[in-house]
Amino acid sequence: MDSRELEILTDRAADLIINSERIVVFTGAGISTESGIPDFRSPGGLWYKYDPEDFTYQKFVSNPDTRRKQWQLFSERFQAGEVKPNPAHYAIAEMDRLGKLDCVITQNVDGLHQKAEVPDGKVFELHGSLRWVICLSCGRRYPFEQIKTRLDKGEEMPDCEACHGMLKPDVVLFGESLPEKVLKEATFHSYDSDLFIVIGSTLIIYPAAYMPGYAADAGAKLVIINLSPTPMDHQASVLIRAKAGETMSAIIKRVKEKIG
Ligand code: ZN
Repeated sequence: MDSRELEILTDRAADLIINSERIVVFTGAGISTESGIPDFRSPGGLWYKYDPEDFTYQKFVSNPDTRRKQWQLFSERFQAGEVKPNPAHYAIAEMDRLGKLDCVITQNVDGLHQKAEVPDGKVFELHGSLRWVICLSCGRRYPFEQIKTRLDKGEEMPDCEACHGMLKPDVVLFGESLPEKVLKEATFHSYDSDLFIVIGSTLIIYPAAYMPGYAADAGAKLVIINLSPTPMDHQASVLIRAKAGETMSAIIKRVKEKIG
C-alpha cells in the first residue's frame, strides 16, 4: 500500500468517524502484537505453542495434572505491569474522549484497552480477561495479580479464599462458551452501530467474528484495518492493509484536524 493510497484511505476513514454517531471498534490479536504480545489464533489466545486438546475447560476442571499445567502457563503469561498499550490503543481511547466511541468489542484478554483508559464499562471482552480469576463455585472474582502472588509462593492450584472452590483464570478456554452477558451486549451494540471498525482481526474465530456481519446487516459502514485478508473485506467501505498503531494514529490525527 503506497503512501498516497494510504493517505486517501486515512482521510476517508476520518470522514466516516466524523459523520457517525455510534461507533463500535472491534479488536483482535493484531492490535496487541504491536505491544509485544504474540498472535495466538484461538479463543483465550494462548494455545499457539500448546496442544489445545490438553487445555480444554473439561480437562481444567476434571484433571488436576492439566489444571496445574494450565495455571503454570497462565502464570507465565501474566505479566502485570510489563505489557503496555500501543498507539492503536491510545488512538481508540482518544476517540472516546472526542465523543466518538460507543464501545470496544475485543477478542483479546490482555486488558490493554482499559490500560489505555477506555472506561471499563465500554469494553466487552468476548474471550474473558486475564486480569481476573473467578471461583467456579461462588463466582467471587480476584485480581490475577493477587493469585499470581500465591502461585509465585509455590501454590500450584489456588482455591477460593471464601469457599475453597476451584479457581479458574477468567478467560474462555477451549470447550467453554463465551460469557453470555458480554456476548449479548456485544451483539446489541454491533446491530446498533452505524460505523464498525475492525482492527487487527482476521475475523475467523466465531462467534466473535459474527459481530461485523451483524453491524453490516443492520446498515453500518465497515472499516477494516488488518495486515492480512479477512472474509469481510469485500463489504468494507475502507480497507487498510497496514499496522494498527500508525494507521489509527494517522486517522485520529486527521479527525482532529478536520473538526478543528
Ligand atoms: Zn468461592
